[in-house]
Amino acid sequence: MIDFHAHLDLYPDPNTTVRECVARNIYVLSVTTTPSAWAGTAALTTGAPRIRTALGLHPQIAHERKGELPLFEQLLPRMRYVGEIGLDGGPEYRRHWPDQEQVFSRVLELCARAGGRIMTIHSRRAATPVLDALQARPGAGIAILHWFSGTQKELSRAVDLGCWFSTGPAMLAGEKGRSLVMKMPRDRVLTESDGPFAQVDGRAAWPWDADRAVETLAQIWSQPVNEVRRQLLDNLRRLTKSLA
Ligand code: MN
Repeated sequence: MIDFHAHLDLYPDPNTTVRECVARNIYVLSVTTTPSAWAGTAALTTGAPRIRTALGLHPQIAHERKGELPLFEQLLPRMRYVGEIGLDGGPEYRRHWPDQEQVFSRVLELCARAGGRIMTIHSRRAATPVLDALQARPGAGIAILHWFSGTQKELSRAVDLGCWFSTGPAMLAGEKGRSLVMKMPRDRVLTESDGPFAQVDGRAAWPWDADRAVETLAQIWSQPVNEVRRQLLDNLRRLTKSLA
């Protein structure tokens, strides 16, 4: 089972959540929203080799935390995974747009200079500017667009740019999310929970809720669940071997 985008440090009891992920043998990409959160979040998962901690600076707080860019730069050489990063074009964040753009473009520049990273990227109401930024920095690494919610046209541009995608039960609950997933290359898709932000059955998603996406993918792809699981694990292996 794969949860390629979870905020483990933001659960009410992160240690118990981590223990449950370990017990269930889940591969988790544990994302952070600030560079200063990285050390504490990584410490949650010592002795959990299937859980990796990504270095992030979330677009929704870019204006408050842009002062942590030097710490981002300092930690980056030791990182393999970066996120959550990106842009958010929602009305409540629009007035901080210049800060968001400055932070995201600096992060991509640093990743490119470091030789490229595996990046999990937020693009809510900002698919086109995110793709513009990625296109401007092709050396930044491999972009995984998490919970992609752009248009079909933006999706095909993302596919042409080589982007990957992570999708979860919250995204797949809607017709729009399912029709986007239909057009994603099967060999560039991973599952995610985006817990505890994303909701499942009216409560915060757990990392293991990412598994619910597998059955929806099986329907969309007209494939047995076992084959979908194999495809997703193949994808994860290929992704983690890249940029080695
Ligand atoms: Mn997230």
